Amino acid sequence: MVTNINKIVYEGKAKILYNGLEPKTLIQYFKDDATANNAEKHAIIKSKGILNNFISEYLMNKIELCGVPTHFIKRINDREQLIKKVKIIPVELVVRNKATGSIVKRYGIKESLQFNKPIIEFFYKNDSLGDPLLNENHILEFDWAKPNELEIMKYYALKINKILTDIFNNIKIDLIDFKVEFGRIKDNKNKDFIILADEISPDNCRLWDTDTKKRLDKDIFRKDLGDLIDGYQEVASRLGIKIN
Ligand code: ADP
Ligand code: MG
Repeated sequence: MVTNINKIVYEGKAKILYNGLEPKTLIQYFKDDATANNAEKHAIIKSKGILNNFISEYLMNKIELCGVPTHFIKRINDREQLIKKVKIIPVELVVRNKATGSIVKRYGIKESLQFNKPIIEFFYKNDSLGDPLLNENHILEFDWAKPNELEIMKYYALKINKILTDIFNNIKIDLIDFKVEFGRIKDNKNKDFIILADEISPDNCRLWDTDTKKRLDKDIFRKDLGDLIDGYQEVASRLGIKIN
């Protein structure tokens, strides 16, 4: 159920943003839409949005507690959460611990190869261009982020990797890779600072069961490996999340 009658600010592939009641806030509504290959493949998967809302709430809270500022304020209901409104930086950061997906295709490396150090990749957040790969020179030259912002995003991305890896290791899940988005907000001195935005869920993490290597993330949908909800539900229940 949607609690608000506010105007839609933005409708994306997986979520809708509404204005919150308080200034500088938004309500993030999680839809059941699943997309892959830049929305070439699309389906409605009943209750996916609910699972992502709860899983993202859980992980954002942990990340915030570990010292990375996030946009998350509180979950409102099954499908909605209150967040701080940010100016999204149009750069997606992907952190990879093992090789799978586009990095395997791009460089012809071995699937599941364990990296000695996590690899950070940057992609331009632009669906019509197919989210092209970037390097740091592009980001700075096109002024998508300032040098200090780029450094803090990289630092936060690696810190988030450590936090999430530990959480998932405890429940016998390997964190293979994930994608994060950051945004700018003003502090009380009107100075910009960077916080984690968007969501952290099996839609944008690759999660493999440690023992069986069974996929518990959106690759189930991308590659038609079975029931997506079974995978997401497994992640939620191992995290101890109760969905009424
Ligand atoms: P998309 O199809 O663009 O990926 P989503 O369905 O993921 O969209 O909807 C979320 C959109 O809202 C994304 O474009 C994301 O960058 C943006 N967003 C996420 N968190 C915030 C925030 N705190 N403030 C403003 N925009 C946000
Ligand atoms: Mg998105």
